[in-house]
Amino acid sequence: MSEFESGGGRPTWAEIDLDALAANFREVRRVVGGGVRVMGVLKADAYGHGAVACARRLDAEGAEWFGVATPEEGLELRRAGLGQRVLSFGGFWEGQAELCVRERIVPVVYRLDMAEALDAAARTAGVSAPVHVKVDTGMGRLGVRHDEAAEFASRLRALSHVRVEGLMTHFAAADEPGRDCFTEDQLKRFREAAAAFREHGHALVYEHMANSAAAFAHPEARGNMVRPGGVLYGLWRDVLPTLAEKPSLLPVMAVRSRVTLLKRVHRGETLGYGCSFEASREMLVATIPAGYHDGYARALSNRGRAILRGTYAPVVGRVSMDLTLVDVTGVRGVELGDRVTLLGTDGELSIPAEDVAKTAGTISYEITCGISARVPRLQRSKG
Ligand SMILES: *Cc1c(COP(=O)(O)O)cnc(C)c1O
Repeated sequence: MSEFESGGGRPTWAEIDLDALAANFREVRRVVGGGVRVMGVLKADAYGHGAVACARRLDAEGAEWFGVATPEEGLELRRAGLGQRVLSFGGFWEGQAELCVRERIVPVVYRLDMAEALDAAARTAGVSAPVHVKVDTGMGRLGVRHDEAAEFASRLRALSHVRVEGLMTHFAAADEPGRDCFTEDQLKRFREAAAAFREHGHALVYEHMANSAAAFAHPEARGNMVRPGGVLYGLWRDVLPTLAEKPSLLPVMAVRSRVTLLKRVHRGETLGYGCSFEASREMLVATIPAGYHDGYARALSNRGRAILRGTYAPVVGRVSMDLTLVDVTGVRGVELGDRVTLLGTDGELSIPAEDVAKTAGTISYEITCGISARVPRLQRSKG
């Protein structure tokens, strides 16, 4: 196993298991079956995992589409030499129509003025620009209202250099069985919108709706492409509803560090800001060079845990910006420089991002996205 030793810098790093990413991608493909394309969602730097490295591995797995949040994120993939189709979920902002055309970044469109700007840029470039139109079927966020979809479809007909290649929507509660009726309503509205687009002469090549939860839990909503993000990164316990078949998905990220200082602490002494922890006995405490600026949430103060030498060890005191304290009294043979796992798997033991998120009062996506740029990503791969 490769470790972060090179360069001799601060020993806090994130390991990205690209074999696990590839296995998860294959698992999604298996679940959705043939005839349904699997777009690799790489927005937000691949949920903190590193978009370019993840894209290269998904490229090797045969991914045809990548999903990003912004044209800038698409440009990063192009600059790394990736040639896949790229869909920008957030569309584009003023002044970026030319960029989309030039770099073949397909924008999601939800306003007529966006389509007009793209039409003008495509006309100048002498090309026809594909777009995917987003229909708001109940999320209430981006998208043309479903009851205004027919009119939007009609207006788009006037733009000769824009081609509506895809129609999409996004589910609000595909992970909540108690809201399946809502999801069904969204699906019905989407189908009506798709019919309206066809009636207005738009030849839709792609109809896509499903995020991770819908791809696994709502087979009827897969259309001919699904857009999973979380499950590709092995995040599913707080993403998918309970399924008849437990998905076989592997965590992709691990965050590790090393013991920087070991010290005795006597009964009655306190640890960290606010003196929030008081030793009730003689203790051995390790100082770890990772804190909330690295994305190790302050909410884990006195609540998180780490893995050292095959043992779980509790976080004690407040997590500070750059440092965290761990009670290693129970860790046999603990030494300065020992490897510490703050997130992910170490041997038989594991601290899933979902568990960290629950402790911190958030969701797993915010945990992996939150591992900051200060933490170097170290890609691992055997395959
Ligand atoms: C983020 C996102 C997805 C992926 O969602 P997951 O829950 O991570 O699978 C799919 N579609 C859109 C439009 C998104 O913004």
